[in-house]
Amino acid sequence: MGDDLTTCPICKSELQRAGQYIFDRGDYRVECRRCGIYQVDGDLHEDRTLRSDERTRTTLSGVMRAATDRQGEYAEVLTHDNIERILASSGAPDGVDRQIDLFLHAIGRDEEYFGRTTKTQPIEPWIARAFLPDEGTLVGLAHELAQAGYINFQEPRPHYVQFSLRIKAWERLRARQVAKQSSQVFVARWFCAEMERVHDDAIVPAVQDVGLVPYCVNREHFTDPIDDTIIAEIRRSRAVIVDVTGERPSVYFEAGFARGLEIPVIWTCNASWTTRLPVRVAASSEEQIETAVMRWNDRLHFDTEHFPHIMWTDAAELRKALVNRLRALGISGR
Ligand SMILES: [Zn+2]
Repeated sequence: MGDDLTTCPICKSELQRAGQYIFDRGDYRVECRRCGIYQVDGDLHEDRTLRSDERTRTTLSGVMRAATDRQGEYAEVLTHDNIERILASSGAPDGVDRQIDLFLHAIGRDEEYFGRTTKTQPIEPWIARAFLPDEGTLVGLAHELAQAGYINFQEPRPHYVQFSLRIKAWERLRARQVAKQSSQVFVARWFCAEMERVHDDAIVPAVQDVGLVPYCVNREHFTDPIDDTIIAEIRRSRAVIVDVTGERPSVYFEAGFARGLEIPVIWTCNASWTTRLPVRVAASSEEQIETAVMRWNDRLHFDTEHFPHIMWTDAAELRKALVNRLRALGISGR
């Protein structure tokens, strides 16, 4: 039976109204000032699994808030089974640059006319909109952006805020918009028979599902693995899907180049892929470096956790996850 839910399972802030227990399903409906409106499975709530690290909380909070702003509430009930997928396809910003974009974009969406401030609102939803961990970081970012000439920022009363964009912010958002108009998604991956099938059964249909056109270099072009064609095609792409199965060097080059251009990169990997990594650094060059076989998934935890990878087992799963991820990042042709 449901015990009282008085703090938000995601951000831990006190709820103004206790979470509503839905008897026939055993779920709770939560209305949080910061995260917005969402439902959580009773098991997940009692298990306290959500009492986890700051990054998970910040990401979930941002995802729930974005859905609430867009459609009134988050559509799925949060459960043990879907939480990893939601995190992996969250579209959470992978750095400050993207946090700034999301924040400016949210202000722009709220402004009725250029220069008119957003309505006086509590600060909490803005923390989530910028995928930030707390009030302090949001206020810090807002002061910096005001000082740099991007926004006007006021605190009309304690814990309430108003923003308006300045022309410099519009210019920044417009520059991002140009890249967004491209309909191409560049695909970087291993060229082997198994991945050819995955390309046809998962990647191509996923990109087409969101109304865009995949570009894969070996389909169009058979010469040097990294040349001017690749550079040009990445440059004109709206996003790059990077599958690291097989750990091909060219794939990392393509990902790095795209990130340098601030083109979103979606990382994927076959869940069964293992890799050999050093476990002990040799003291001298004569000494053997000890290596161990490690699952890619385990390696990610300490290596590239800032780049959430979609870990897939088959084409159907990858297709679904890619569509979710592309949509979550706002990368779609319709
Ligand atoms: Zn919350």
